[in-house]
Amino acid sequence: MALSQPEIIFYGPLINPKSVSSFQALPKCLLAVGASGNIDWIEEHVHESALQDVLAHRGSLNVSFIRLKHGEFILPGFVDTHTHAPQAPNTGSGQQYELLDWLKEKTFPMEARFVDVDFARRAYDLIVKRIIDSGTTTCCYYGTLHLEATKILADVISKWGQRAFVGKCNMNRNSQDDYVEATVSGSINATHALISHIRALPPPRLVEPVLTPRFAISCSGPLLSALGDMARADPSLRIQTHISENRNEIHTTLKFFPEATSYADVYDRHGLLGPRTILAHAVHLEEDEIALVKERNAGVSHCPTSNFNLRSGICPVGKFIDRGIKVGLGTDVSGATSTYADKQLPLSALLHLATVGGAQVCGFDALLVSVRSDTGNPGLWSADLDQELQVGVAGGKVLEAWLERFFFTGDDRNIRRVYVQGRWIGGAEGEL
Ligand SMILES: [Zn+2]
Repeated sequence: MALSQPEIIFYGPLINPKSVSSFQALPKCLLAVGASGNIDWIEEHVHESALQDVLAHRGSLNVSFIRLKHGEFILPGFVDTHTHAPQAPNTGSGQQYELLDWLKEKTFPMEARFVDVDFARRAYDLIVKRIIDSGTTTCCYYGTLHLEATKILADVISKWGQRAFVGKCNMNRNSQDDYVEATVSGSINATHALISHIRALPPPRLVEPVLTPRFAISCSGPLLSALGDMARADPSLRIQTHISENRNEIHTTLKFFPEATSYADVYDRHGLLGPRTILAHAVHLEEDEIALVKERNAGVSHCPTSNFNLRSGICPVGKFIDRGIKVGLGTDVSGATSTYADKQLPLSALLHLATVGGAQVCGFDALLVSVRSDTGNPGLWSADLDQELQVGVAGGKVLEAWLERFFFTGDDRNIRRVYVQGRWIGGAEGEL
């Protein structure tokens, strides 16, 4: 059988998540990426002395070869299942508010500014690059309610080469006068127009549209129903929305939808709860709602930092995992800064949550991570300091120790390169 010729081969340590409870740490791995950006092949244990023989056998002697330095490793890229691109300029501010006041005082006024397409272009260019450099190779984005600005968001993401889902917020009530959609038909028409725009973007087409009813309080029943109809008519469309972030929000939602038996039931009765739905937060779901989410096979985006900053509560993520509900991590800017730390969970679970979905695509979406001193992160105890002090790692699990340090004390300085579909698109080392 003829072997395809890879474009690039990495030799060094690879972290490969397997499940919530396990991951592989492969210290001497050969990984070949093809011209399509997919992983061609992996050889898991290749000793230095056998390297040339293996490469010759694979017919891969004259390709771009990257030998990782001591302290570097390859990790699947991070998947952020919930981010509001237009809220990035608000990161770290307004945290004296709880959710509904925070939306009114901070979020909606900032999002309203994106009616200005020049502002949107400048802002999104900075925001998307920053998200890529933080190691996010796949991102689920909420734009604003504006069609033109959200087209620009999709264009910018496509230009930078990130894999993403992009949605225009649907919201036709309970917002400030200059930041609300006037009619259901206007909201739906703009949504169709955005979908057409995204599907016409140039190859490699890593951006997909996602229906984005902001949350039940922002949408009238007829708007939710119309979006449910769109989802039913197009089985490739995903849906993202918020649920049960805060007690006051739940109370208000049920006031607006008195016929519903629960918050989850609001989405379900409008045809918006299914296997393609991502529900952000889900902090306060009742038992019957958890059962419904599981039955509909919807996924939950867990946003721990946002929940902490806005004092929303603690998401029972361990319970969701136990029940077999799909869970991923979301940063939810600007209620949050990027973090993957939840010390209640083992390293394998954190890795799984942070990279979930990465394993489901065959494209090479990966990070070249360094835990060396020359990254300039003084907070991270580096691999070369270990060498200098001749500090051993318990059980010889050196790679696991590096991963743990990166998760708990690493930052964007340690993310040297970001690859999406085999293309180097960002990271601290800059682009090719
Ligand atoms: Zn959110």
